[in-house]
Amino acid sequence: MTPNAYRCVGCSLEYGIPMKLRVYEGATELRMLTWPAWCQQCEAPVLAEYLPSPAAILAEARALRRGDEIYAYQISSDFYLDKPEYLPTELARLDQLMQWRRTRKAPSQCLDCGCTDLMFASHPEASFWHPGCGGLLQPRYTVCAGIFRLPLETYSSEGIKLSSRIVTC
Ligand SMILES: [Zn+2]
Ligand SMILES: [Zn+2]
Repeated sequence: MTPNAYRCVGCSLEYGIPMKLRVYEGATELRMLTWPAWCQQCEAPVLAEYLPSPAAILAEARALRRGDEIYAYQISSDFYLDKPEYLPTELARLDQLMQWRRTRKAPSQCLDCGCTDLMFASHPEASFWHPGCGGLLQPRYTVCAGIFRLPLETYSSEGIKLSSRIVTC
């Protein structure tokens, strides 16, 4: 789950993480994977692109196929183990991710400013140190229910933002 904000337990500063949908251009609009990081240029917690290794994508697809309930899924989810009817679609998504990942050259970048000088959180839901403060930045979550409007951003396969539109979901 992606945090909506971070709050530092040391200095009480709070940083919002705007909710957005992000996809790579193409007929199927492959959903971008993100990971929280500290951006040296924004001087704030941000979401950065997550570029899993091809080996990691393959390992997850294999774990799903064998119904592995212990595997720590980070690209997919154990949700599909109980919903086998959705599994073929999810495996097709992992396959598409693999094709994208094999040709991707640019490093992971901050989705706010494009900077590549990032310190990644150890886990998407982990707290991390507030540089220069020493306090701990803790993720905060807001549960949203109902219909709402969100920006949908389209990126090139190299992570360059191409367009943005508002969608209802
Ligand atoms: Zn702080
Ligand atoms: Zn940044």
